[in-house]
Amino acid sequence: LGRSDRLNRVHPVSQWAGKSEAGPLIFDRAEGLWMTDIHGKTYLDAFAGLWCVNVGYGQKSVVAAAQAQMEKLPYATGYFDFASEAAIRMAEKVAELTPGDLNHVYFSLGGSDAVDSALRFIDYYWTARGQPERKHILSLEKGYHGSSSTGAGVTGLAPFHAGFSVPTAHQHHIPAPGAYRSEDPSDAAVIAASVQALKDRVHALGADRVAAFFAEPVQGSGGVIVQPHGWLKAMREACDELGILFVVDEVITGFGRTGKMFAQEHEGVQADIMTMAKGMTSGYAPMGACVLSDKVFEGIAATGGTVGHGYTYSGHPVSAAVGLEVIRLYQEGGILANAQARAPAFMAALKRLEAHPLVGEVRGLGLLAAVEIVADKRRKTPFAADSGISQKLFSALLENGLIARCFNDGTIGLAPALTISPDQIDLIAERIETSLNTLSL
Ligand code: PMP
Repeated sequence: LGRSDRLNRVHPVSQWAGKSEAGPLIFDRAEGLWMTDIHGKTYLDAFAGLWCVNVGYGQKSVVAAAQAQMEKLPYATGYFDFASEAAIRMAEKVAELTPGDLNHVYFSLGGSDAVDSALRFIDYYWTARGQPERKHILSLEKGYHGSSSTGAGVTGLAPFHAGFSVPTAHQHHIPAPGAYRSEDPSDAAVIAASVQALKDRVHALGADRVAAFFAEPVQGSGGVIVQPHGWLKAMREACDELGILFVVDEVITGFGRTGKMFAQEHEGVQADIMTMAKGMTSGYAPMGACVLSDKVFEGIAATGGTVGHGYTYSGHPVSAAVGLEVIRLYQEGGILANAQARAPAFMAALKRLEAHPLVGEVRGLGLLAAVEIVADKRRKTPFAADSGISQKLFSALLENGLIARCFNDGTIGLAPALTISPDQIDLIAERIETSLNTLSL
């Protein structure tokens, strides 16, 4: 099944680039946090699939909800004057959970198309306000906002732009704040530098030509970069001062990942536009959403502008039914409470790894964390992207039965299911340590 000639012909594994002759790891089944491959080897999944299976594998009530919905009404479009009860209830639930007046829910199938929707609404908004020249979009270097043409442009990771310049024409990236390698690592200094970078870039582009700033509350795919407390609020305030829209991408951080339903709650702020996906349905069915505040929605609607927007599978009844049950599990099933209860032990177990000679920094928020591996601990020198560290580490972790994300510089990303037990927390830390000890560099 995993033969490279077969995979290279039909590309079922989009990220697999023929790295090993053995081919990719092919999974057969999963339960809780445990995954089993087609040869019967088991792995502890410390990454919840792709930061998405927040309720863990094998949740029978989610399967039952999907089956019941499929039997009753497998599909109804959200176009024209049609809807399904499941989609309406899910939209109401999302509007109820999101902070403040983020009340207008436009479903997508995942995160990239939620970001596409956000970009579209931003353009509608400024056009409706008589300022169509506001085209520039700012985001952070190392920010990740999707793989679609426009989402890849907002993404601040160079590989996503290589050989692909058109969508980036109006998209700009400011330095990612981060304390680990800053000369002055204090929260105040990191925040002030970031606010200044935003203001400088907006003024350089022309304040009346900038449409919006996109933020991730914790930068996920850039290496789990945790911003200091107060950063999100400071950026919200800076956007208000600059008169641009503030967009928060909670595709990873949403649905309990950081210990709150949404990471904005840690800071008491709300976005003008918010995107979400992943934990929304915990990977049991595809679903995302772009949620507009009253201000943005009414700004578009007031002048008769278009607020109709969607895709064939927007608000898919089965995904909506799954989402409703997943949210019920977060709330009534105690999964969000478990995420909150386990987070301190999770961070403490990982923090102990900082004593290891290869570990530069451990950082995280809730059950989202990174263990940064460095070539020179004293100088905080990262491994070169072409050092092969990522592949070596990934193989060592798998050898030891642990699934985690390994970024190009060797940083290990962790985002286990929110159902994690204390034993599983210890096992993650143990398996990372064993892997680091057996690493041949
Ligand atoms: N935004 C963020 C913050 C993400 O982390 C991701 C996916 N990792 C996306 C958008 C894109 O989501 P999707 O892969 O579902 O299209």
